[in-house]
Amino acid sequence: SKPIVAIIGRPNVGKSTLFNRLAKARISIVDDTPGVTRDRIYADVEWLNYKFTMIDTGGIEPESNDIILSQMRRQAEAAIASADVIVFLVDNKTGLTDSDMHVANMLRKSHKPVVLVVNKVDDMQTQTMGIYEFYNLGLGDPIPISAGQPLNLGDMLDAIVEYF
Ligand code: GDP
Ligand code: MG
Repeated sequence: SKPIVAIIGRPNVGKSTLFNRLAKARISIVDDTPGVTRDRIYADVEWLNYKFTMIDTGGIEPESNDIILSQMRRQAEAAIASADVIVFLVDNKTGLTDSDMHVANMLRKSHKPVVLVVNKVDDMQTQTMGIYEFYNLGLGDPIPISAGQPLNLGDMLDAIVEYF
């Protein structure tokens, strides 16, 4: 069966935007409304000769930092359990956060392959300096992308399929 790739990261980093870009059928909903609950959604993705199943780990918009942390933990645990490769998505606009650090610690302990991807780098000429702080996560080279534009998704996909 096809490899499973899970996108994890805290709310609003752009997981669903990235998922919708890659999915042949756009079946995930981008929604900024607080309190909206979404189940995990699956899509088929193809890149070069590779086919894989991608999981969008959407979820509850948190109302406090405690809820962010418990939500992150559940997302990460579910992704770790089912995924062959994890895309850990962080946000260049907000920069590195405590929640990112928390998830990174869990991912390192899992020994699963992790591709660290920095979203919202909407201009590769002027906005890539910020990505260097994400080396502090200890998960290797951060790959800058813009899911919104889109930009540099090929480099990210190359890094993912290397683990298959
Ligand atoms: P999720 O909660 O991680 O699934 O994040 P969403 O995909 O719902 O996106 C959250 C917000 O970030 C939305 O307003 C998106 O339009 C915005 N967003 C997503 N990707 C990008 C990007 O590459 N650049 C910018 N500037 N905004 C983005
Ligand atoms: Mg989402």
